[in-house]
Amino acid sequence: MSKPRPKGLLARLQDDETVICAEGYLFEFERRGYLQAGGYVPEVVIEHPELVEGLHREFVHAGSDVVLAFTYYAHREKMRIIGREADLEKINRTALRLARKVADDTGTLMAGNICNLNIYDQADPSWEGRAHAMFKEQLEWIMEEGGCDFILAETFFAYAEAKLALECVRKYAKGIPVVVSFNLKRGDDLIDGVLIQDALRRLAEAGADVVGLNCGRGPATTLPVLEEAKQNGIETPLAFVPVPYRTDAENPNFMTLKDVNDNGKIAFPLDLDPWLCSRSQIASYTRKAHALGVRFMGICCGNASHFTRAMAEALGRQPPASRYTADMSKHAYYGTDPTLIDFNTQEVCKNKF
Ligand SMILES: [Zn+2]
Repeated sequence: MSKPRPKGLLARLQDDETVICAEGYLFEFERRGYLQAGGYVPEVVIEHPELVEGLHREFVHAGSDVVLAFTYYAHREKMRIIGREADLEKINRTALRLARKVADDTGTLMAGNICNLNIYDQADPSWEGRAHAMFKEQLEWIMEEGGCDFILAETFFAYAEAKLALECVRKYAKGIPVVVSFNLKRGDDLIDGVLIQDALRRLAEAGADVVGLNCGRGPATTLPVLEEAKQNGIETPLAFVPVPYRTDAENPNFMTLKDVNDNGKIAFPLDLDPWLCSRSQIASYTRKAHALGVRFMGICCGNASHFTRAMAEALGRQPPASRYTADMSKHAYYGTDPTLIDFNTQEVCKNKF
């Protein structure tokens, strides 16, 4: 007997539930030594599928409601750059099967993923035909592998590319809900000159089920953009999927944060660690986003399971990983637990530091 399908994305949003979608697979596997910074192609999917399956399970354990197929940057353009175009179909199908397996095992939503192709060129309209072909093939593989609960079309720097992605989902993945989100650099406009607020509104009017921002910006510089969208009266559910870095007014996008030891050097991507948010900051921004009415959220590049758990707990949840949420009463030096007896004084050790 097959298991009942989990409640869908749209039904959850309709009922004012929050959906957490853990992301950040590329950065996490680069840190672990299974793919290369620069090219950032998810080769690990076919080299070590067991590790990808493991990270899917770990994110669910930490509170993710979604298993996102790891096809980010598994498109023809990226595979060409690393000379592995022959593996394009295999990497996509393998990623989809891994996500499907974990989603079915854990009763979570399974999402397909298409993304920025980095070929948008205002001066050369031929990019559009090539982009269309790349979205089409990835979407067709999603459908051939049994479809998905929703498609995440993300990290678009250009409105034109996001709009094309939405049109392709509607054409090649009929009936599947879609989340479309932007990577906003500096300022208020996307790289094709469309203002972000116009872009969000136009995608919403074009029928995207969720619109918002992912990647690029940390929580502090993502939230105000969504706040403005709310003030503008947008009714389509919003996506808040920042990177977990402390971006600010000077550097709203993590790609221009400076190395903390050498202000002349860009920290992206290898020296960003000192800019990481704390877990408390992630929790605080999660609560702010929720108070604003955001119901689709996650963490992008830089995410790891502890941040996803912090996000889930900030929403009042107790995912399986909460079994190991900190209990400092049992700490050797800060603890207050009566079993922490000092051998010399026979008294409870307190605040030795
Ligand atoms: Zn990202």
